[in-house]
Amino acid sequence: VPSQNLRIPGPTPLPDAIREAGTRQMVNHRGPEFKKLLYRLSRDLRTPFGTDGEILILTASGTGGLEAAIVTFLSPGDHVLSVSIGVFGDRLASIATTYGADVVKPAIEWGSAADPDLVRDEIRAMAAASGAPKAVLLTFNETSTGVTNPIADLVAVVHEEAPDALLIVDAISGLGALPFDMEDWGLDVVVTGSQKSWMIPPGLAMVAVSDRAWAAAEQATMPRFYFDLVRHRESLAKGQTPWTPALGLCFQLDVALELIAAEGYERIFARHAACGAATRAGLAALGFDLFADSAHASNTVTSARMPADVEWSPFSAALRERGLVLAGGQGALSGRIFRMGHLGHVKVDDIVAALAVLEDVSPSLGIPIETGVAEAAARKAAERVVGTSSQLSAMAASA
Ligand SMILES: *Cc1c(COP(=O)(O)O)cnc(C)c1O
Repeated sequence: VPSQNLRIPGPTPLPDAIREAGTRQMVNHRGPEFKKLLYRLSRDLRTPFGTDGEILILTASGTGGLEAAIVTFLSPGDHVLSVSIGVFGDRLASIATTYGADVVKPAIEWGSAADPDLVRDEIRAMAAASGAPKAVLLTFNETSTGVTNPIADLVAVVHEEAPDALLIVDAISGLGALPFDMEDWGLDVVVTGSQKSWMIPPGLAMVAVSDRAWAAAEQATMPRFYFDLVRHRESLAKGQTPWTPALGLCFQLDVALELIAAEGYERIFARHAACGAATRAGLAALGFDLFADSAHASNTVTSARMPADVEWSPFSAALRERGLVLAGGQGALSGRIFRMGHLGHVKVDDIVAALAVLEDVSPSLGIPIETGVAEAAARKAAERVVGTSSQLSAMAASA
């Protein structure tokens, strides 16, 4: 594949050092080398999750991590509140329903964040009708709409209204790129996936679990085997995983965590904020209509409405011919929006390059755009986030 500007919300482009780590020779996954590696990965992942607990590493895509979060801690018939704001929130609710949970899912308009008052009302209504929810399902960053939820505010309401409810959070496309604090916020189960901000290929799900959730696991009766996190925890205590892990991905995660440590989370968060601001400002300057509520727009993925009378498939094909790969809308948003990913190994120059392709290609598709303004708008927005342009170029150089 010739070099592409892969601007989708995962899989994300790999730095060279991470690609090389994927070619390493195998080791015994029940031997001392892997034990050391697994402990190092589990320890170094504590910082981005914001926990002192162990991090479990599953060989699965992110959805496997979500399935583990449901089946390990819940029982059939449990009342569960799903606060879904898009396709991925709906997926988490579907997993719970599939395993027999009794799921209440209020309708929230796509493109919006969840409102803490709505969560309060729903919990009160559930408590009055059938008892307080056993668990509340939340999405940190809804990739299908490009919205980041105000998790701390939502969770504060749950702690007030349903203090015993487990808080299960899909943080797959936000963790590692956006500030997050599992212990400070009082979350119970948090899931992320390797192909998003972690700059490694798809295939690992990383999960953190609170003490309260481990206690709940002892009572939980949903059927579970491969995704039984209790088995994963017992194996981790011996420096192993219960099943053969994707060793190559573990080698790559090791290198990724070294690169991340060298850059530092503060700088990584600032870089994502800068890329998010640049994307929004640049698309708006071109004349695209941003889809997400601007107060909650994500710094890892941006959504914009498809221009009137333009179909997604010729649009995406014309961009791909020029090396720019964007994501389309999912579910009910299919054909209605397009999405640009800006997470992981990304810098403002990548955003500027993507905007330039959009600027060049749009006229031939009949999309009326403003020319000659997007790059300056994007760079200015990024600089405003970071403070000074010299800091920004230092960041770009290290990315
Ligand atoms: C990518 C993503 C998932 C699903 O991950 P897979 O690795 O495709 O299984 C779930 N939730 C969110 C928010 C995501 O961004």
